[in-house]
Amino acid sequence: MHQYKYCKAITSSDPTAAYHAAINERPSNGASPGNRNKRSVGEHTKYWQPGKTLKIVIVEYNEHSFATIKNSASKWLPYINLQFEFIELDEQTMLAATEFLGDIRVDFQPGLGSSGSSLIGTDSRTGSPDLPSMVLGTDFSSPYYESLVVHEFGHALGLGHEHQHPDAGIPWNRAKTYLHMANTTRFSKAEVDANVFPLERSASRVYTPYDRHSIMHYQVLDELTLGDWHQPVNLHISQGDIAAVRAIYP
Ligand SMILES: [Zn+2]
Repeated sequence: MHQYKYCKAITSSDPTAAYHAAINERPSNGASPGNRNKRSVGEHTKYWQPGKTLKIVIVEYNEHSFATIKNSASKWLPYINLQFEFIELDEQTMLAATEFLGDIRVDFQPGLGSSGSSLIGTDSRTGSPDLPSMVLGTDFSSPYYESLVVHEFGHALGLGHEHQHPDAGIPWNRAKTYLHMANTTRFSKAEVDANVFPLERSASRVYTPYDRHSIMHYQVLDELTLGDWHQPVNLHISQGDIAAVRAIYP
């Protein structure tokens, strides 16, 4: 029996607010050097200002939740010039918030098991302050849980899905993949397109060479590809991930 941990990376529903949040945080989000693609409002990076202390609010769930998220998210810290300040809050306080209590706001949804979703980078400074920017399942004892949290925090740091890298070349069987994702995670066709299949090269992302061992890569089942191609769940931050975040957060 597989344990699937397909995640949804969520883009802000308000591209103009997302653009301003990104530029206010770090002006270079609007103009990454070396990238000559024409930029539109939706085409910018969403990285935090290096040196910043990111405030991470975690809604109280049980006696394991806070420590588990804190320890797992902190796996990024040796490689980035950012600090994390973790704050545990009760749900009522979060629901009553009228301003952003945290740059990243984590809540839990038991039905998600060991999967989750997150907004990308500074997009979490858009929308309603009483809403989480990251939602995680509560299967804390799963062998995949830590890698889920590390993956979601990769999104919160501004990283996209590595399996969607334009150079990934994964020979997806698209028809089977739509069906599988609908059955296992109730992804719509549009959500599969947005989260699974390769994306065009975009100015909203800084590219390092494609790395199938990235923590930002989905597991890929052999039965969902043409011929023989599969990738097991990646459990740890890879050398490629380290190179990427070091370049983003020097
Ligand atoms: Zn993801």
